[in-house]
Amino acid sequence: MTCRILLAMLILSAGASAQTADTGTAHKAAATALLNSNNIGAAHLACPDFSALPGAAPAGRGPGRAAGAGGRGPAATPARETWYAEGGPVFDNLYMLTTKANSAWAVKTSEGIILIDTLFGYAAQDEIVDGMKKLGLDPADIKYIVVSHAHGDHDGAVKFLQETYKPKVILSPEDWKLAARQANPYTHDLEAADGEKLTLGDTTITIYITPGHTGGTLSFLIPVKDHGVPHVAMEWGGTALGANTSKEMLQSYISNAGRFKDIADGAGADVIIGNHTEYNDALARLDRTKARKAGDPNPWVVGKPEVTKYLTVVQECAKSWLAIDEGHPFN
Ligand SMILES: [Zn+2]
Repeated sequence: MTCRILLAMLILSAGASAQTADTGTAHKAAATALLNSNNIGAAHLACPDFSALPGAAPAGRGPGRAAGAGGRGPAATPARETWYAEGGPVFDNLYMLTTKANSAWAVKTSEGIILIDTLFGYAAQDEIVDGMKKLGLDPADIKYIVVSHAHGDHDGAVKFLQETYKPKVILSPEDWKLAARQANPYTHDLEAADGEKLTLGDTTITIYITPGHTGGTLSFLIPVKDHGVPHVAMEWGGTALGANTSKEMLQSYISNAGRFKDIADGAGADVIIGNHTEYNDALARLDRTKARKAGDPNPWVVGKPEVTKYLTVVQECAKSWLAIDEGHPFN
């Protein structure tokens, strides 16, 4: 073997190993290494399931989860016991309004309420209207509804709430287009801008346009207080990915997760909230919040490194799907 051939082989193998590092398996492993109760459910919805991939599956033909998280929801109202859950206060100014599967959030300000997401339409009366009243909040005080993305599990009750309480409704321009395609669309209202600060009374939340799960998914930073001590809550507004997520959307998800990670870190975000209870074991966390005694830590305050970790996990899941799309499913 000549030196030249040996050198060529070395270069080739170096190139190959650099290439194999960017595989579905490697990125999923990077996500898996970071899993804990603050992010494991997010990974379940965002990461591909290699065990279900039949051998060296063609690019992008893995199992999809995106369809399960979206759509318009069931045509008929499911039995109440299958979805009903009790909400509760999580911070001095933040209330979780939740079914077993999905969460909406009421941000209480000095001038009314900002509602983030609305759950499926069938849950509006029990979870939003009655749920708020049980927590001492008046749904008539909802001044803004901000919709993370136009899927039925998050915007299903917008029309009812918009017509009943006349709040301003905010979506991204892209997701307004998605909302307009619904059978019985709600009225087009305000369009969010990236980095927009939405102020109501004494509270300003910041809205970011982070496409990936949908073309105009919104993510949020929300100032909260725990017995008067300030914290910053982070919501990554769209999480699930699947084999039917386009390459363009995966690339957008990856870059926006990275961008939002830096933004959240810079803002000191130390709390994770989500719009699916599964993402961070939110129902159990709410139970722990309700059982909290004086002096106990707030179960939602996880610290800045956990917020970074959460966004790294979903980003690695997206990189995993992208590698599969590009034909590199396995190491
Ligand atoms: Zn969705």
